[in-house]
Amino acid sequence: MNSNFLQTPIEYLKGVGPNRADLLKKELGIHTFQDLIHLFPNRYLDRTKFYTVNELQQSTAEVQIIGKITHIKTIEQKRGKRLVATFTDETGKMELVWFRGQKWIKENLKINVPYVIFGRVNWFNNLFSMPHPEMELLSEYEKGLRPAMQPIYPSTEKLSNSGITNRVINTLMKTLFSDPKLDLPESLSKNLLKGLKLLGKNDSLFNIHFPKNNNLLARAQYRLKFEELFYIQLQLLQKNRLHKLKIKGYPFAQVGELFNTFYNEHLPFQLTGAQKRVIKEIRNDLGSQAQMNRLLQGDVGSGKTIVAFMSMLIALDNDFQACLMAPTEILSVQHYNGLLEWSKQLKISISLLTGSTTTSKRRKIHENLENGSLKILIGTHALLEEKVKFKNLGLAIIDEQHRFGVAQRSKLWRKNKLPPHILVMTATPIPRTLAMSVYGDLDISIIDEMPPGRKDIKTVHRYDSNRLKIFRFLKEEIALGRQVYIVYPLIQESEALDYKDLMDGYASIEREFPKPNYQISIVHGKMKPADKDFEMKRFVKGETQIMVATTVIEVGVDVPNASVMVIESAERFGLSQLHQLRGRVGRGAEQSYCILMTSHKLTADAKTRLETMVRTIDGFEISEVDLKLRGPGDLMGTQQSGVLNLRIADIVRDSEILKVARSYAFQVLREDPGLEDPENRPIRSTYSQLVKYKNIWNYIS
Ligand code: ADP
Ligand code: MG
Repeated sequence: MNSNFLQTPIEYLKGVGPNRADLLKKELGIHTFQDLIHLFPNRYLDRTKFYTVNELQQSTAEVQIIGKITHIKTIEQKRGKRLVATFTDETGKMELVWFRGQKWIKENLKINVPYVIFGRVNWFNNLFSMPHPEMELLSEYEKGLRPAMQPIYPSTEKLSNSGITNRVINTLMKTLFSDPKLDLPESLSKNLLKGLKLLGKNDSLFNIHFPKNNNLLARAQYRLKFEELFYIQLQLLQKNRLHKLKIKGYPFAQVGELFNTFYNEHLPFQLTGAQKRVIKEIRNDLGSQAQMNRLLQGDVGSGKTIVAFMSMLIALDNDFQACLMAPTEILSVQHYNGLLEWSKQLKISISLLTGSTTTSKRRKIHENLENGSLKILIGTHALLEEKVKFKNLGLAIIDEQHRFGVAQRSKLWRKNKLPPHILVMTATPIPRTLAMSVYGDLDISIIDEMPPGRKDIKTVHRYDSNRLKIFRFLKEEIALGRQVYIVYPLIQESEALDYKDLMDGYASIEREFPKPNYQISIVHGKMKPADKDFEMKRFVKGETQIMVATTVIEVGVDVPNASVMVIESAERFGLSQLHQLRGRVGRGAEQSYCILMTSHKLTADAKTRLETMVRTIDGFEISEVDLKLRGPGDLMGTQQSGVLNLRIADIVRDSEILKVARSYAFQVLREDPGLEDPENRPIRSTYSQLVKYKNIWNYIS
């Protein structure tokens, strides 16, 4: 093996030198020969195709033409000199233009000899022109060996301005690949290569840079994509496995009296199959020696809370405490009331701790937590305060991910010897393929089934011009005793305008729905928290029939009597937001409605979003569309987009390869967790190299 050669600094490659090396490092992150080899082309140009001048169009990208230069002249203008050559074939004429290196070119160009030119064309002064074409005499071209498919490498403006063109990269690749010292060890096992009929490493890398034909190129791409995804998955799964080995957790040996009594006697409804499955997954985790780290995904209303509650009962059955943390006060209160109801006959002590808990109550809670008589604590961020010390916290449940960091969470168990088991619940479905890549090291449970009897939410798209009809419909619903949300967008960049829209909207709704027949609540971000809370509570209690709001109501409010969600300027919301908002209705027994209001001016993406909302209420299906529209980086926020910085694979387009890679990585680790089998030697050595150079193709989590 020759890994030393591959780690040679890039400046030692013939044709590079210190200046170019600097640029390659800064612009493309290429430090070594190995890095250069793994600079994969973005796309390929078909160099078997020749254009004639009369076939050119303004929209054509790079083209290849055979013809002759008939005339050269230098044109001087205020902005500088340029060299212009007239180039003709049988069908017409065009111009070739140079701004740099004019002297050398002028002296070396041959007149009336056939050339092959290649480059991008511009339409200028009623003539096509090609600036700085790649040129080769036809006679040379015919002798030369070249791939039918010309690779186009990633580049930056700085690189091309400094003369490191695609052709230069190409030449560097050729230099490197013709070095006899180059030896690319196979990085996958024979089993994998055979089982998946993959192209070998050498052939793959050679064909990705110098494709012999389309078929070999496709096989090379498949293999390299597979490899990239395979090693990411291997790393994630390994991390998960090591976590389980190293991070011990409290084994909850028994499922005891509380759980069983509740399950057999007090279950308020029959659990769905998905809920049962997920509870079993959690029970397995809790019973093992390892600390649980589980993400529970389930659409709004899928019934995550009871799963949380029953998991807590297992903790209590094993003499541990449990806590449930929610992002807002309202949500905490809802959880508290719900859990009180469910635990009525169980005689367990539950408390609520939020920012508005009085000092005396607070003191009592602190005391009972420490002496262990308080078993379940529910609350907001207040749970993270210094004074909150559990005697023995065994299970921490966090509702709605993304809102608490790991460092924050660990404050919960400052008194523990071992970390408690962690269950994070989220109603924001993440496409499976994305979850596999971003949360691949967590265990994931999914509730993909709604409780029975849940009515579909009728979703329609209406134009602003129909507003009066909508108002009439709202009045009918209110007359039936229902409540209505009307939501306005509030986007930071256009905040002032958005507030104006909200206030204008509010004024027109007040006119349309006058007191005392109608009562209206309004909630937005500029209000004081206390006022917001007051208005929310009025709506929750049913004192107001209409809630006019910005997106602050997005998270988790539960008003089962609300049956209509009107979303104004719906074209301005993202899919996941629309889906979350719609989830505010359809919580009661009544038929619910979601009305998406828009203007007539809609972009193609906005149309897709609206059509998707009208077509389905399945959060996972919606998240898949969202992923396709926005790409993985946007979907996960900038923070995590680095994780998805793949060299050749694409999470959206290559999701099938990802699934295969994950299942193979899983299988390899199951059969040979230490990668000790001689058969797996190539995997072991590649893996340890990647870890050593912290470079799973840039993947660092
Ligand atoms: P979410 O997953 O959004 O947190 P919840 O746990 O709040 O959902 O459940 C939504 C509603 O459905 C609650 O009123 C809950 O009591 C009810 N529910 C949950 N599971 C079932 C079930 N298996 N059968 C009937 N109703 C259920
Ligand atoms: Mg919930």
